[in-house]
Amino acid sequence: MKKRILLAVALTVFCTAALAQNPLLQRRYGTPYEIPPFEKITVDNYREAMLKGMEQEKAEIQAIIDNKETPNFQNVIVALSESGDLLSKAGIWSNLNSASSTPELQALARELSPIRSAHSSWISMNKPLFDKIKYVYDHRDEYNLNQEEKTLLDRTYQSYVKGGVLLSPDKQKELAAINLELSNLQLQFSQNLKHDTNQTYVIANSLKELEGLPQANIELAAKLAEKIGQKGKWAFNMQRASCNPVLQYCKNRELRKKVYLMYNDRCNHNDEYDNKEIARKIIDLRLKKANLMGYKNFAEMQLKDRMAENAKNVYDLLDQIWAPAVAKANEELADIKAMMKKDKVKGQPQPWDYMYYLDKAKKAKFDIDEALVSEYLEIDNVQKNGVFYVANKLYGLNFRERTEDYPVYEATAKSWDVIDRDGNVIAIYYSDYFPRDGKNAGAWNTTFRGQRYDGAQRLQPIVLNCCNLAMPSGDRPALQTIDNVTTMFHEFGHALHSFFRNVKYRGTPGVERDFVELPSQVNEHWAFEPEVLRHYAKHYKTGEVIPQELVDKIEASSKYGQGFATVEYLAASLVDMDLHCLEEVPADLDVMKFQAEKLAARGIPKQILPRYSVTNFSHSLGGGYSAGYYSYIWAEVLDCDAFKAYQETGDIFNQEVAERFRKYILSPGGIDKGSVMYHNFRGREPKVDGLLENRGLK
Ligand SMILES: [Zn+2]
Repeated sequence: MKKRILLAVALTVFCTAALAQNPLLQRRYGTPYEIPPFEKITVDNYREAMLKGMEQEKAEIQAIIDNKETPNFQNVIVALSESGDLLSKAGIWSNLNSASSTPELQALARELSPIRSAHSSWISMNKPLFDKIKYVYDHRDEYNLNQEEKTLLDRTYQSYVKGGVLLSPDKQKELAAINLELSNLQLQFSQNLKHDTNQTYVIANSLKELEGLPQANIELAAKLAEKIGQKGKWAFNMQRASCNPVLQYCKNRELRKKVYLMYNDRCNHNDEYDNKEIARKIIDLRLKKANLMGYKNFAEMQLKDRMAENAKNVYDLLDQIWAPAVAKANEELADIKAMMKKDKVKGQPQPWDYMYYLDKAKKAKFDIDEALVSEYLEIDNVQKNGVFYVANKLYGLNFRERTEDYPVYEATAKSWDVIDRDGNVIAIYYSDYFPRDGKNAGAWNTTFRGQRYDGAQRLQPIVLNCCNLAMPSGDRPALQTIDNVTTMFHEFGHALHSFFRNVKYRGTPGVERDFVELPSQVNEHWAFEPEVLRHYAKHYKTGEVIPQELVDKIEASSKYGQGFATVEYLAASLVDMDLHCLEEVPADLDVMKFQAEKLAARGIPKQILPRYSVTNFSHSLGGGYSAGYYSYIWAEVLDCDAFKAYQETGDIFNQEVAERFRKYILSPGGIDKGSVMYHNFRGREPKVDGLLENRGLK
């Protein structure tokens, strides 16, 4: 008995020692630029730091409430803005859960979801805290605040109102329950989608089925098959990098059909990963939440604080583009029918014919071979001599790769110092380009640490671009498609926004959701400018610069297929809006039927399905872009108009315009409304013609 007690004591001591070593709980990591020492942090460390972080934040907030001084901007708003330091430090586990998930991290996500939700509710519905915020808000004219401070105060006040602090205790309880259920459902939605994207396969049994598929993709498919115990066959998962080449290049119509349907029907297989009922519940709960807050539907609540302001403005823009886009798609459809006839394929074109024949029609019309173009788009060249080159020409940035001394969370991710004209490191950048198990689909930008001040010192943001681009295969390096190069420029545009952010307070908000894609999309405009292309597009074998003839063909064909692409995108945006404008969600609502009926009523060509079906529409149902998928095209009005500001000077690297863009758009966070920030940059309102021209819809 005694021995046992001794053992227990010994164990306790051991555990305490282990806890003390949790890197997240140390005041400093002691790494270069305080980059998190990823390799040394365990899942248990994250759990412990998250729990402690919530405790700490609670104590910090309680101290604000208990403070006997008269409330003022400093002791309430700034104090609140600076609280939760440990929690945000520990929060990087969630970035890793998107980029390099493991079953342990997924389990942690499920475990923390209800705890975090309860914690947020405690803060957002905290009446004594709100009373202090309201006091400061009501006395705001007495503090002589600058623009950033005004915005910080205003958004803090509004976010508490939005969080339900003014509701009766009963309704607050109801809201907290809704928030909890929503966060669980959204998490489940995303985890199901990750499964169906990474772990459902189409298998080809013979090489003959793969006719037309580039050799590199054949090799990757063979590798994947071997990995899943199907050696000697060829496997495709539902990552775009794996399945898109089949849709674009495979002659075998049956295989294209299988892949297309499997992709489109992710999480719609009536199995344990099905998202139909989850999506319906999410929509229903969001409506209930909006009603509780006094709005007639969820879209109204979401749009109130965006550039668009209301659903009518969103529909007006989408409708304005819908008709010319459908007309263009029908033109393209005629080309597809002609190509199919030539191929002696009977019947009407189907969704799985679109990419394949559009590619063929493009080849025939413009004599362009995308596989040949890819031979000039080697990933390192695109990054160093394209993406980085443009950032250098516009903003004077230089990039230094850190191969050994920086912590890495994933062996294939590269780390870089971002250096300004004066030689200062202004940010740390990770480029994580290749797909792997446990990585979310798609591409995104995020930060391991946002820009902030430590006293007078600006701490460098640690920024991450995650993509799923084409991998090296055999003796071929990672050769990219035109689309993938666009993605690299896009995500890097977000990264630039993170690099240059320079605000005083940590709580200063970011830009509105429908403004967020301006920095990323404007950066895409440089990707295929001939001057830029010549700088990075070199043949992977010979080093030969891309011939002028090919540059001309890329330019001439760049708008081809935009009818299809625009309709596909608008369709998803419309469904996202339609779902969130509902004022009643029937218990038997079939979300897939809803989607089909809504789009048929708008006259969508039968061959085009929305870019995402509701069951795999993570932008809309997973959280970030709910009643917000329209944001891409909303911001496109801005980015096309913004790029014209450069073109109008006759110099796409005009320094004066670039400086204005950096100063008014990239640096100030969201200290002003997007419409004001844009006006500051351009000196006028944006015009929509640039977008229509850019998509060839004019
Ligand atoms: Zn983006």
